[in-house]
Amino acid sequence: MDRITIIVPCYNEEEVVETFYDTLKAALEEVPDVDFRCLFVNDGSVDGTLSVLRRLSEQYEGVSYLSFSRNFGKEAAMMAGLDYADGDAVILMDADLQHPPSLIPEMVEWWRKGYDDVCMKRTDREDEAWFKRTMTGVFYRVLQGFMRYRVQRNVGDFRLLDRRCVSALCLMRESQRYTKGLFTWVGYRKKELPFKVQPRAAGTTTWNYLSLFNLAVEGITSFTTAPLRLTTMLGLFVSMMAIIYMLVVFFDALLYGDPVAGYPTLMTVMLFLGGVQLLSLGIIGEYLGRVFTESKQRPIYLVDEMDGKKLCYRRGRS
Ligand code: UDP
Ligand code: MG
Repeated sequence: MDRITIIVPCYNEEEVVETFYDTLKAALEEVPDVDFRCLFVNDGSVDGTLSVLRRLSEQYEGVSYLSFSRNFGKEAAMMAGLDYADGDAVILMDADLQHPPSLIPEMVEWWRKGYDDVCMKRTDREDEAWFKRTMTGVFYRVLQGFMRYRVQRNVGDFRLLDRRCVSALCLMRESQRYTKGLFTWVGYRKKELPFKVQPRAAGTTTWNYLSLFNLAVEGITSFTTAPLRLTTMLGLFVSMMAIIYMLVVFFDALLYGDPVAGYPTLMTVMLFLGGVQLLSLGIIGEYLGRVFTESKQRPIYLVDEMDGKKLCYRRGRS
């Protein structure tokens, strides 16, 4: 019998976890020959999520939970889930019922056909605001331009991963995680299935435009150093233009006796160069910042409690 662990990161989801689990349980009954376990990861919720999880895990044998010492973010919560899951495969899904559990039977079917990573592809992006859609499009285009492997579009965290993918993902201990990219990075056989993201069952989303911009920068800086190469090329280009312009001014003054007005040209050039320099410094800074964070080698998350037991940090696990 196959064992599948369902990993559910929860942050302030007290209103929905219980409904979520009921829906999940109903959906799982339709899958034959699979031993499902559900692993909730409480990401430092400040509401009653933890007590709901405690109750669920006492009530149902297939439910266990991890609870963080504070909020570490969804990426860390997923990492913890992958570290602690012991199934032959795992399914990652959100607690807010935006990822419909009714699709699980189909995912399992494809896994049994030999796919290692069954990813769910959103087909409802048209409903989003025009600005968000355009920015998402630009981001994917930029990322793809820099990468040597195919970036998956509109594919999120809702997916089934074979044990092989999970082991590979557990090797990557970077603390600034762009999990979506890591899934692509590990490779293996991927199958994309379409699905529609449901509206949140309750509660509010934690994303806004600023955090999406940050995520985009994170995505690019953690997977490619191409922007650094681009600054080098930009520097070369600007220097070449400067030389050409210098020659023009030189001959203008020598041959035609043009007195060349100073202030406007100087001002334009100075401001332009200042902008280029700040931009390049910013790009270098982004990478330096990443080196700084990664070099500290801090654990990605700290588990406070697991299934009612207080845990202490163990090396190699987090
Ligand atoms: N989440 C988490 N830690 C956080 C923020 C979110 O574990 O710091 C969980 C949250 O409980 C939910 C999932 O990540 O299960 C997706 O979060 P949300 O619904 O806010 O994001 P969206 O669906 O809008 O992408
Ligand atoms: Mg959500």
